[in-house]
Parts: sequence; C-alpha cells; structure tokens
Amino acid sequence: MAKGIWVYIEQSNMKIRKASLEIMSKAREVADQAGEEVVAVLIGQGVEALANTVIPYGANKVIVVDDAQLVNYTTGSYTSVLNKLIRDHEPKALLLGHSALGRDLAPRLAQRLGVGMVEDCTAMEYDPTTLLTFNHSIYTGRAFAQVKVITTPIIATIRPNSFAVSEPDATRQAEVIKESAQIDADDLRAIVKDIVIASSKRPDLVEANVIVAGGRGAKNVEGFTLLEELADVVGGAVGASRAAVDAGWIDIKYQIGQTGNTVAPTLYIACGISGAIQHLAGMNSSQVIVAINKDPEANIFKAADYGIVGDMFQVVPLLNEEFKKIVN
Ligand code: FAD
Repeated sequence: MAKGIWVYIEQSNMKIRKASLEIMSKAREVADQAGEEVVAVLIGQGVEALANTVIPYGANKVIVVDDAQLVNYTTGSYTSVLNKLIRDHEPKALLLGHSALGRDLAPRLAQRLGVGMVEDCTAMEYDPTTLLTFNHSIYTGRAFAQVKVITTPIIATIRPNSFAVSEPDATRQAEVIKESAQIDADDLRAIVKDIVIASSKRPDLVEANVIVAGGRGAKNVEGFTLLEELADVVGGAVGASRAAVDAGWIDIKYQIGQTGNTVAPTLYIACGISGAIQHLAGMNSSQVIVAINKDPEANIFKAADYGIVGDMFQVVPLLNEEFKKIVN
C-alpha cells in the first residue's frame, strides 16, 4: 500500500536549496495531520553527507542514491532513478521545487508513471480524501485553481517562497536508506561534460528575498547598472522583463514571467515595467510589490502595494541614497 510524502531535495554544489527546506517544513506539517511519514530523497554524487542537514526539518526517513553517474543532473538519468525508487517504495506523493530542475523532472516522471501532476503550486493543505490539495495559478496568473490529484503518487512542483522554513530540530533522528542507482541504458541519451558557473555576489534570483527588476523603461545596459547598485545596497538580486532581455540589456536567465523565472520575494521593486500579464505571472505572489513608472496608468500599479509615479532615473538614485543610510 502506498505510504509517505516524499520531498525531492535539490542541491547545488552540495548546498541544499532553500525551496527544498520550505517544502520539507510544509510536508512535515501536513504529514502530522495525515498520520504520514516524510521522506527526503537525495540523488547525486556525495549527497549522503547532506542527510544530516535535511533531517532536522522533519524527515522520518532519507533515501539516498549516491553515485558518480549522477554527479550532474540529466533528465534521463534522474527520471530513471526516481521512477525505479517510486515503483519500489510506492509513496503517496512526491513534491519538488518549481525550479528549472523540478519543471523538467516532474512532468517526465508523471508521464513515465502514468499519473497526474500539478505544477507551480503556491499553497498545499491536508485533504482527508486525496491527502493533499493544492492552489496553482491559471490563465497566466489571472486566477487560482484548487487542484486535487486523484492518481498515486501525487506529483507536484511548489513555487519557491510559498512556505516558511521551520525551526530545525537538531535532536531529530531519521533512518537513512541507501539505494543503488539503476539507470536504464535507454535513459542515458545525454551526458553533461562540464558546467561553467557564472560567478555573482548577488543571491540566486529565484531564492532572493529582495528583487530589483527592470524593464524597457531602463532604456539600456547603463539603466541596469543603476538597478544593480540598488540591488547591492539592499542585498537583493536583479531581474528583468522580457522586453529588457529581448533588447539585450541583460541575460535571459534573469527574465521573470510566464516564459522566465517564477519568483515570490519579500520585496519586489519593478522599475520601468508596464505590468503585462505575462510578467505578472512570474512575480505576483511577491509579498510587497513596489512599482516605479512614469505612466500613472501603467498596469503594474494595479498589482503594486506601493507605487511611485516618476522617472526611474531620478527615483532609483534617491532610493539608493535613502537605503544606504538605513543599511549603513
Ligand atoms: P513595456 O511594456 O514597453 O513597458 C515599459 C514601461 O516602462 C512603460 O510602462 C513605461 O511607462 C515605463 N517607462 C519608460 N521610461 C521610464 C522611466 N524613465 N521611468 C519609469 N518608467 C518608465 N514578458 C515578461 O516580462 N516575462 C515573460 O516571461 C514574458 N513571457 C511572454 C510570453 C508570451 C507568450 C508573450 C506573448 C509575451 C511575453 N512577455 C513576457 C512579454 C509581455 O507581453 C510584455 O511585452 C513585456 O513584459 C513588456 O516588458 P516591459 O514592461 O519592460 O516593457
């Protein structure tokens, strides 16, 4: 019989992503209501060492698949491993972050298992009939649907920053189960030879607490330099609208929206962004939205908690000065 809520623990350079700890924390809360266990799943090379980091956030068990073949993520190898684990252990649910990895892995796995999935969830609660119920945005963020998945296991990706990370319990004990990597030869269609990491002092965009985002109103690369200064003063990340990305002022990895990253920081400062529905789809779960736009009719003001009608080239330097006084 199916048992347990699994949480896929995503790591990068042996650092567990905050989004995975958020999901662990919420899974623990729901599992307590449901009388279920929480199982953390760690896949990669050298990842066994991370089991002790994740246990305090609520794991009853940790399944570890530690193998040199899994040093870098590939869709095929990780799908193969998780597919086998799920068929052997029969969990009730598998939760992943709505990250690039989660967005890639979850649908592939659901297809392989022949089950339903729900993506980009911003809320998850215990449901006595289906175990879990989720909220996820539809129509490019215009509405939210409440979704129950009626196949087993339930597969869901959760938007980062949707849940708080609980206080770790250092006394918590959990069983660590080591499984071997069984990768079907057919699944090894791509091999990652090398990863070149772009170095940046700024926080990861998806996990950042503060994001300063620029749009077409930033006008050019120099406009973004101004936004980078503000981001550095407040310890935030820089993001962008698609118009700014298409203009070549900033790399596509910083794009926020329907076809870019989905973010939900504590503070989102939108500068020279009109607020197109495709942009809002990626940031409208932010806790506090501040918009700076010289057009008082700009759509972004409908989504904003605070609006500044003005020229960002005048407003942003003033904000910079004020924030510097607070931070220093
Ligand atoms: P604009 O809409 O041109 O707005 C620029 C704003 O800057 C205006 O409101 C203007 O008043 C203001 N402004 C100008 N100068 C200044 C100044 N000096 N100071 C202050 N304000 C100023 N877009 C995304 O962002 N992300 C996506 O993921 C995305 N996906 C898409 C997917 C599809 C299928 C489609 C069709 C579109 C998508 N788009 C996406 C594009 C989206 O529709 C908009 O075109 C885009 O978001 C507009 O970007 P913008 O707000 O920077 O530019």
